[in-house]
Amino acid sequence: MERANYHTHTPRCMHAIGSEREYVESAIQAGIKILGFSDHSPQPYTDGFVSTIRMTMEQTPEYIETLLRLREEYAGKIDIKIGFEAEYIPNLFEPLMKELEKYPVDYLILGQHFVGEETPSKYSGRIHDEPEWLKEYVDVVIEGLKTGAFAYLAHPDLIHFGGDKEYYAEQMTRLCEACKKLNIPLEINRLGLCEGRHYPTDLFWQQAAKVGNHVIIGYDAHQPQVLSDEAGYQACKDYAKRFGIEVDEGYRIY
Ligand SMILES: [Zn+2]
Ligand SMILES: [Zn+2]
Repeated sequence: MERANYHTHTPRCMHAIGSEREYVESAIQAGIKILGFSDHSPQPYTDGFVSTIRMTMEQTPEYIETLLRLREEYAGKIDIKIGFEAEYIPNLFEPLMKELEKYPVDYLILGQHFVGEETPSKYSGRIHDEPEWLKEYVDVVIEGLKTGAFAYLAHPDLIHFGGDKEYYAEQMTRLCEACKKLNIPLEINRLGLCEGRHYPTDLFWQQAAKVGNHVIIGYDAHQPQVLSDEAGYQACKDYAKRFGIEVDEGYRIY
């Protein structure tokens, strides 16, 4: 099976390190055949807000050009795809798509880091016990996926709900069922697993196993060397196996 990874960042998001070339070389070393870059997309904020975790609109052409050059240079060795990890913020989504339409973008993945406003208090990964917030996360993710704009759902279990487990399982089943119906694969996130974060979340993947979702692994690489760290990748496969899930290692986005 030819291995693919579509979740790779660049320093433009201000929390990743290493050049694009270093990511490409590391991926080749690991035997990855398809390498997708999906840095945090710019957001067309209209109120002057400047995000500290994503590239700016002005950086976008240079991001695309850099990857186009590398794609040409490494043709035959590795297939480089150009993407973004984007949020689904309903009122910003159309303007975002309008901006991204200007470029040869191969795919988007959905990473819902915020429900609504991009502020630390609304970060999906912040632990909370608000059922409404959990429900809202599931609602907005499903609504986003229904646009048909996204190739897969990154770290579906980023939302960190510390409340009633039954309610969590119920909401996550709803999310998994929607993804199955929409043919959207779910990502086991290598970064979360290797850093011992709250995701991947066992209770989430129990539901995904029951629903029978299509599952892939995303490296979520913020450093080049993680792409050639085989132990981390194997840990993701082993994690999936615990739930009887077989991951699709060579998933193709077209
Ligand atoms: Zn990131
Ligand atoms: Zn993410």
